Amino acid sequence: MSDKKLDFDFRERLNKISGGSHHNYCYQCGSCVAICPAARFNEDFNPRDILLKTLLGKKEELIGENSIIWKCTNCYSCYERCPQDVRPIEVIIALKNICREDGVLPETVDKFSETISQTGRSVVVNPTVNRRRSSLGLPELQNVPVDDIKKMLE
Ligand code: SF4
Ligand code: SF4
Repeated sequence: MSDKKLDFDFRERLNKISGGSHHNYCYQCGSCVAICPAARFNEDFNPRDILLKTLLGKKEELIGENSIIWKCTNCYSCYERCPQDVRPIEVIIALKNICREDGVLPETVDKFSETISQTGRSVVVNPTVNRRRSSLGLPELQNVPVDDIKKMLE
């Protein structure tokens, strides 16, 4: 991070997105890193460092289809652990929402959200799925009210 100038515009934008404003409370203690499973298995992933970059307004390092934020597993462990109520996972989700607004989602995430908006499910249910469910004694999956889902997404 050679450029030391703070990007307040980016921070202001983050403040306006649900969950984003809590980034202001981070005092860089690192407790979130200690509990984070993604950090344990990926040396490049570090929620404390992501929060530092938000505080510095490093948009170019956080927003993009190859951003490190996509390595978060959404486990919410950091939410429970953070002594400052930063809720790092919610800041990361806010950053992901900025990626969506800017049209820079990873291809897999883009397809995933398209499937949800079209079918109401994250995975397409085909006859094979229901046959498998039947063999396990489970009922067939019913259609999801897609119009209701679309309204919610709007
Ligand atoms: S997000 Fe919370 S736990 Fe993580 S470094 Fe900041 S203050 Fe500490
Ligand atoms: S939600 Fe993401 S950042 Fe938080 S502990 Fe889990 S993997 Fe780490």
